[in-house]
Amino acid sequence: MSFESLQLIPSLLTILDKQGYTTPTPIQEKAITPILEGKDVMAAAQTGTGKTAAFSLPMLQLLSNSKQQAKANHTRALVLTPTRELAAQVAESVSVYGQGLDLKYNLVFGGVKINPQMMKLRKGTDILIATPGRLLDLFQQNAIKFNQIEMLVLDEADRMLDMGFIKDVKKILSLLPKNRQSLLFSATFSEEIRTLARTLLKEPVEVSVTPPNTTVEIIEQHVYPVDKTKKTALLTHLIKTENWFQLLVFCRTKHGANRVTKSLNKQGISAAAIHGNKSQNVRTRALADFKDKSIQVLVATDIAARGIDITDLPYVINYDLPHVAEDYVHRIGRTGRAGKAGKAMSLVCAEESKQLLGIERLINMKIEQQIIPGFKPIEPLLTKNFKQPASKNNSANNKPRRNRSTRNRAVK
Ligand code: AMP
Repeated sequence: MSFESLQLIPSLLTILDKQGYTTPTPIQEKAITPILEGKDVMAAAQTGTGKTAAFSLPMLQLLSNSKQQAKANHTRALVLTPTRELAAQVAESVSVYGQGLDLKYNLVFGGVKINPQMMKLRKGTDILIATPGRLLDLFQQNAIKFNQIEMLVLDEADRMLDMGFIKDVKKILSLLPKNRQSLLFSATFSEEIRTLARTLLKEPVEVSVTPPNTTVEIIEQHVYPVDKTKKTALLTHLIKTENWFQLLVFCRTKHGANRVTKSLNKQGISAAAIHGNKSQNVRTRALADFKDKSIQVLVATDIAARGIDITDLPYVINYDLPHVAEDYVHRIGRTGRAGKAGKAMSLVCAEESKQLLGIERLINMKIEQQIIPGFKPIEPLLTKNFKQPASKNNSANNKPRRNRSTRNRAVK
């Protein structure tokens, strides 16, 4: 299938050609046509599947064709994202794809001054990309009005709920005109997402694509039991002795990410941190340096790592285990992409035993533990009680099975 056969307009085709996109990805093949037909769409697609273009291209085309003028402090389309990182990436994509079109884009998120955003909104916007909290602030200050909205996109809706934005999202939904086209993109479809979808979408077309890899099964996973105070020393030791290159290290906190980065650099291992307190420029730079292999280690928090697209990542290290077991699956899914074997290693201290148990329960397998000489923890991990729950899917050969909630459930 070609982009031409999806009935995209020539100016979009020119840009896609310039971008080197020769064929639509599966999610683009499935979602673009119903969106162009004005239908509501519920799409199951993860980062890395080309989902941004799947909603941006038809959105740009529809808005460009309808030739309405956005009034001052109004927007014709709204894209809601859970993080500013993702909002910035979507805005970047929209402005690239929409280069040849006479449309105005704006990007608003929290953590930066509100006034410059208010000024920009005065001129009217065709596509506004926003995080929920800041959007509501702007609404309350009359900087943005919703009555001209024709299209709504909820991007990474599952993450939006995980991060506790449901109240803000519901509030925003209650303020939008009923007569609009709505699109919901989510990596997974939990009951909660389906409930949200029912309040948001009208007779939606449901599309889904299989994730680029099958996460848990093909990734080699290890747990290194270690005392909390020795984690950095163990990480340094492993990087040096195992010759690991291109590592994505996850830390639970921004502070922790900074500390680990500093220690690695001190040990002569080039590392950079990306998290919410770093400016967009610094984050973009760190990611580019990591991708072109001029730095060896990227240290990230869960939120900052969400949405970053690094292909062929060989190693993921959990410096801390996440509190939410599902995040472990998201994290390790960064490696082993496109069917390639990847390795996911976790440094786990006794205090994290409960989280480890939660993860093992979720992925339905026990992760092999390996004690590194010189790093034997004083207090062992409490993982002995893990039992494979009886289930007919849990076959006798003990093959790991992916849990319902971690799998991209086929959307019927
Ligand atoms: P996304 O899933 O939207 O984060 O996109 C993942 C990556 O795929 C981005 O770097 C896009 O630029 C790229 N991409 C999207 N659509 C295509 C396509 N049809 N052909 C090649 N690359 C694409």
